[in-house]
Amino acid sequence: MLQKPKGTYDIYGDNALKIIYLRKLINALMDKYNYKYFKTPTFEKSEVFHRGVGVTTDIVSKETYDFVDRGNRNMTLRPEGTAGIVRSFIENKLYADTMPFKAWYFGSMFRYERPQSGRYREFLQFGAEAFGSYDPMMDAEIISIIVNFFELLGLKGIKVNINTLGDNESRLNYRKALMDYFKPHIDSLCDDCKNRYEKNPLRILDCKVDADKDIMKNAPKMVDYLNDDSLNHYSKVKEYLKAMGIEYVENPRLVRGLDYYTHTVFEVEADIEGFGSQNVLGAGGRYDDLVETMEGPKTPGVGFAIGIDRLLLALESLKIDITEEDYLDIYAFCFDEEQRPYMMSLVNNLRLNGFNIDMDLIGRNIKNNFKHADKLKAKFVIIIGEDEVKTNIITLKNNETKEEYKIELENLIEFLDLKISEE
Ligand code: AMP
Repeated sequence: MLQKPKGTYDIYGDNALKIIYLRKLINALMDKYNYKYFKTPTFEKSEVFHRGVGVTTDIVSKETYDFVDRGNRNMTLRPEGTAGIVRSFIENKLYADTMPFKAWYFGSMFRYERPQSGRYREFLQFGAEAFGSYDPMMDAEIISIIVNFFELLGLKGIKVNINTLGDNESRLNYRKALMDYFKPHIDSLCDDCKNRYEKNPLRILDCKVDADKDIMKNAPKMVDYLNDDSLNHYSKVKEYLKAMGIEYVENPRLVRGLDYYTHTVFEVEADIEGFGSQNVLGAGGRYDDLVETMEGPKTPGVGFAIGIDRLLLALESLKIDITEEDYLDIYAFCFDEEQRPYMMSLVNNLRLNGFNIDMDLIGRNIKNNFKHADKLKAKFVIIIGEDEVKTNIITLKNNETKEEYKIELENLIEFLDLKISEE
């Protein structure tokens, strides 16, 4: 039997309904924030991610799906959403429009990770990016989207962990302090951290392997290396979060896995039993240098991404049911082949008039047609026989009350509108 690749999954049935529901909720939510839907290709030239996400990050150095296409070009399935949007922002000169630019996306990301519950090789992310303002209001607005989204869904114990990485000057000072501090201890660090020491020492703080060692706990803190501008930015973000009633916890060791962050970084988790480190449902930060690094004009930005798969698992474990009831307005069937053109015309017309309607496509007998109508949770059943075709008087049955009606074709839509809106 052919099987799906490791770390992937199929979406159908209730999960499909849940995803559709989340998409609707996200559409409506992002309208409220005036963010516009944005779609970039699922694959890009590899250099987009090498430059955008950074070659020292785990997701680029260890986890990308790379391939050479038939034209001998190096391509990569996107591991995250930001780099593609930045590439498009520059390529389409969207920076020439009025700022800020505010966009959201929803789609598959690909990472060659070790699959486990809540961690897949193809997974769905919903994210947003805002470009064009250095103001900490933009950081706070972005964080508020995640919190409002989770609250709308009914998640409890939502916790925003935040930290600042400061501007370039602050980060360079901090980087130097970290290198001086870790230098005598380098042998006691794990292999990954030995690598990070030269390339991106801030990421040593993020290490899960060395996390509990004393040298980690006593490491210099970013906050002691922030210049006035960076401190001011950070305190404004916190002030605006407070103003919106958003609770946060400062976590000086939060650095996030990507190279492009400046100033604010954050992770949002919910209180979910048994989720351990998987309870981080969304994360992001500010990236004031990324557009320039990717050869665009210097443009500040902030963004976040939420893992939809992990969110679905969280909702399930919290017993929050977001499956909307699946039903049909009408199910139609006819007795004989001669009545099929009449039925198809009627069904087509009803669909164009906004009804959800299915019909018998395999020639069931009457009993099985009624059974099928029940299974599809149809509110009404339309039955077409010889008489209906001749007289244009349609027989329909309320599938719940079993009441039967004979309605003239020309009055059918009005009748159904009335009856279905009464339900
Ligand atoms: P990141 O892009 O790494 O900051 O991750 C943002 C969010 O995406 C995480 O909080 C997870 O919810 C989700 N996520 C990241 N990697 C995976 C994965 N391999 N499988 C499923 N969800 C993921």
